[in-house]
Amino acid sequence: MIVVMNLDAGENEIKAVIDKLDEHGYCGHLIRGVARLVVAAVGSELGGVPPGLEVLPGVEKVVRIMQPFKLVSREVRPEDTVVRAGPLRLGDGFFSVMAGPCAVESREQLNEAAWAVRRAGAVGLRGGAFKPRTSPYAFQGLEKLGLEYLAQAGKETGLAVITEVVDPSNVEMVAAVADVLQVGARNMQNFPLLREVGKLRRPVLLKRGLSATVEEWLMAAEYILSEGNEQVILCERGIRTFETYTRNTLDISAVALAKRLSHLPVVVDPSHAAGQWRLVSPLSLAALAAGADGLLIEVHPDPARALCDGPQSLTPLHFTELMEELTALAAALGKQFVRGERVQ
Ligand code: PEP
Ligand code: MN
Repeated sequence: MIVVMNLDAGENEIKAVIDKLDEHGYCGHLIRGVARLVVAAVGSELGGVPPGLEVLPGVEKVVRIMQPFKLVSREVRPEDTVVRAGPLRLGDGFFSVMAGPCAVESREQLNEAAWAVRRAGAVGLRGGAFKPRTSPYAFQGLEKLGLEYLAQAGKETGLAVITEVVDPSNVEMVAAVADVLQVGARNMQNFPLLREVGKLRRPVLLKRGLSATVEEWLMAAEYILSEGNEQVILCERGIRTFETYTRNTLDISAVALAKRLSHLPVVVDPSHAAGQWRLVSPLSLAALAAGADGLLIEVHPDPARALCDGPQSLTPLHFTELMEELTALAAALGKQFVRGERVQ
């Protein structure tokens, strides 16, 4: 339920509401919007509305939330949440692109990719140091060394670093380097990991699971917000369907739906959806048109030699062409495309 407070409610009145919720087993989260002041009561609603809550001073009304997700819901926060990290800005009309290789392979490969995507206008650098691979025999990432290369490339280029964390015990190590921590599709329901990144005050990019419903995806985000971290970016990366021509099926309706149901920014990863580089540009444009707040794209200086996901990686040249198309479409849609400085 949410407790809608009078806009001029004082700190004592807010505290009395939170205390009453606490007595009845709820946790109250204060949310200050532009036009509303609400206390979201999170917890099992089996106990119903605490007696006397509605008549406490400063309380305008108490509203039950019908959705199972609470803190991520637009019912609780009608305005778009904007997530920022370095030059990156997502949500409320701001559109940004994060790009880079699937995996960090060497210092040279990462630097080359980082400068190429920055030149093209990306504001985020992606690159996996810990790779969750289907096969235990496939390249698992450079791990700590990969993080070091990312830190350096991020510092030199000024790009926000986005990298995946696969294990709750590594969250601290990854957070020392990452401006945005990625929780991958395979870990969308790794609840201990979600709780751990929820304790951070750093943006988390949460990928939709391979076969997850939109509701399961939003409930996973709820885990992160329920720990106090409100900076969550939802990422649609394609789901498993009967189609085999593409690696996954980009669920474009999930983008529009998640934007309706939640105030969190929604980005699309067209690379893992498509599995083939030729489809990355049309899917990226479709994502922007459907209301996505950003994109996460795999770019490799030499896709033919990539240790991971080469077939779906764009070359720097193709990525640059895509960025020009996105710029034109964003302008037509009235979106604010956050482009990095154009440097040589
Ligand atoms: C990735 O971004 O490289 C990745 C492993 O993605 P996903 O979790 O979507 O498969
Ligand atoms: Mn990949």
